[in-house]
Amino acid sequence: MAEKIKLYDDSKCTACRGCQLACKQWNGLKAKQTKNLGTYQNPPTLQANTYMIIRFQDVEDDKGNVKWLFRKDACMHCTDAACVQACPTSALRYNKEFRIVGKDLDRCIGCKNCVAACPFEVPKYDHETDKVYKCDMCESRIVNNMIPACVKACPTGALQWGDKDVMMKAAAKRVKELGGDANIYGDKVVGGTHLMYVLKEKPSVYAGLNQNPHVPYSVLLWKNLLKPLSLLAAGGVIGGSFLHYIIHGPKTPDEDGQGSQAEGGK
Ligand code: SF4
Ligand code: SF4
Ligand code: SF4
Repeated sequence: MAEKIKLYDDSKCTACRGCQLACKQWNGLKAKQTKNLGTYQNPPTLQANTYMIIRFQDVEDDKGNVKWLFRKDACMHCTDAACVQACPTSALRYNKEFRIVGKDLDRCIGCKNCVAACPFEVPKYDHETDKVYKCDMCESRIVNNMIPACVKACPTGALQWGDKDVMMKAAAKRVKELGGDANIYGDKVVGGTHLMYVLKEKPSVYAGLNQNPHVPYSVLLWKNLLKPLSLLAAGGVIGGSFLHYIIHGPKTPDEDGQGSQAEGGK
């Protein structure tokens, strides 16, 4: 099976949020009461019960004209995934066939190492279940020859799913058509992401988009030195505790403050 990616083209996105709703429905994620914060972006960030959001942003051009920018925010499915490297139980793991980052919730012990390690602030912790949630690229669909639910729901072609080489060619063609500052985001960071963007503006224009995502040094230290050592001592408990300390620092009463996860989340 060829490596696949999901391509998001913000120039084709109308921010209808059909993808956001489809994600909720496929994953059985319950809605929660939210507040109107003066923006259509709702909820304001990813949450344990919201694996993707469409971000809304208004920007002003040189002539003072205001225009919308939209961006799909979800797990980037990094080739060099900090979350996988930080996870002590393999609850987060690579799917070797599709090269995406899947999850096995039964293995999650709620240590939140992945939350601290992810350079895109994707995994979200839920107090009620003591587990962490994120997009798994609809793994249960793609292994059964179905496309991700968000891609299926998109009415404009802003989202596509396909073989990496085909998607990369389509992305390059689209960037050429758009001209100006249009660019591809994702191919040159963290070993290449499997959610890739065609952006009509430079990445620096998009609020909250990490310009230089990388695996934190604390995680590299854990993976390359402390984890092998810890496997020799006390089944990894000492090393795991130390990793937790160097990533999170001393424990505080409420480290996260996120809303709780819905029933049926996967
Ligand atoms: S975006 Fe974060 S959660 Fe997703 S694969 Fe990369 S490191 Fe892991
Ligand atoms: S791939 Fe599936 S889980 Fe991920 S954002 Fe799309 S619908 Fe949600
Ligand atoms: S369904 Fe397509 S057009 Fe609608 S918000 Fe999602 S990506 Fe944009």
